Amino acid sequence: RHRSAVPVDVCVVGAGQAGLAAGFYLQRADRERRRRGARPLTWVLLDAHDEPGGSWPDTWPSLRLFSPAAYSSLPGWPMPRWSGEDNPPAAHVVAYLRDYEQRYGLDVRRPVRVREVHRAPDDRLEVRTDHGDWSARVVVSATGTQERPFVPAVAGADEFEGVQLHTGSYRGPAPFAGRRVLVVGGANSAAQVAADLLPVVERLHWAARRPPRYLPDHVDGRVLFETATQAVRDRAAGRPSRGVASLGDVVAVPAVREARDHGGLRAVPMVERLTRSGARWPDGHEEPLDAVVWATGFRPALRHLRPLGLDSAKGRPLTEAPEGAVMPVRAVGEPRLLLLGYGDWCGPASATLVGVGRPAREAVAAAEALVDRDEAASG
Ligand code: FAD
Repeated sequence: RHRSAVPVDVCVVGAGQAGLAAGFYLQRADRERRRRGARPLTWVLLDAHDEPGGSWPDTWPSLRLFSPAAYSSLPGWPMPRWSGEDNPPAAHVVAYLRDYEQRYGLDVRRPVRVREVHRAPDDRLEVRTDHGDWSARVVVSATGTQERPFVPAVAGADEFEGVQLHTGSYRGPAPFAGRRVLVVGGANSAAQVAADLLPVVERLHWAARRPPRYLPDHVDGRVLFETATQAVRDRAAGRPSRGVASLGDVVAVPAVREARDHGGLRAVPMVERLTRSGARWPDGHEEPLDAVVWATGFRPALRHLRPLGLDSAKGRPLTEAPEGAVMPVRAVGEPRLLLLGYGDWCGPASATLVGVGRPAREAVAAAEALVDRDEAASG
């Protein structure tokens, strides 16, 4: 099996925004190497979807970015302006990512699903997929979180006879028209989906473990990114950082603000349990429900890395910053594996469009250093 694997220096798994940002820097590194007469880099970008855009096509139509286009850009090429009102919708991001791929000639192989990454005897990592295998010196894993929706264990959830849906599968309010719906979750997707449902449902309940804190209305993605950037600087300087979460839980995007101020959107405490036909709260009162929407987040999609037996804590691999870098993109104990775009644990704001640039640059620099080191070692 190993002998048939195609050798490459770097294999990028996932071609959403994170994988494309890595592709951008790989291409730049390769160009630079050719310019100075060094051996070119070989690399491949694999993606399980059959269309560009990562998980952005899987959102709901009314979803708006937290920030204007100018603050939602990947390295190299700014996101084109959005001419409509409000911030750009997800479809604008899909078009941007598709054009970004084309602009830089990023040759994404799709649909190719990576099933497992193994250590190979020759000090490489073997990437096994449903469309052939690759043998890589370095793997950049950028598979996002969309494929692992998280639903908390709530008593009675398996008895509930209504519809249950995670926001990862929410495609708009139409199926909920005239229904009694509970949205569970304390952050942005909960607020946005609740605001989206409010005008069409018969009754909306929004339950959160603690009262969601709105960011001040003037705070949008720009401020979030400035805070995230400051967190990066603090980290580089070895200072404790406040992080984005300190600002609040919910960005008051226009639709959410409208629902809050004029639609009566209010969060209530978390339910104690679901029943066959509704939910019960700790104070004993019950509400009948037709549907529950879980806006309870995602976990990193890392199943393909299981054969590596990575050191983990809190359900995710331990990471560290490579030499000369500040972003913790390298797996502890497996320097040939770089983790990109999953969340703050592999780089503050790395799960955003504008925030993934720096960790991508540092991941590619680390990959290149490893390739050169191997090269030097093998003479
Ligand atoms: P993804 O976009 O999920 O891409 C991962 C890719 O990897 C997919 O194409 C998938 O097919 C592929 N893949 C997965 N597993 C495998 C495998 N085993 N083999 C091969 N390929 C695989 N960010 C902002 O910057 N601004 C915003 O306003 C904003 N709003 C958001 C609103 C919501 C509701 C959500 C959920 C997120 C929002 N984000 C926002 C966050 C962020 O931009 C997204 O989560 C982003 O999609 C993460 O990009 P990614 O490249 O890491 O992962």
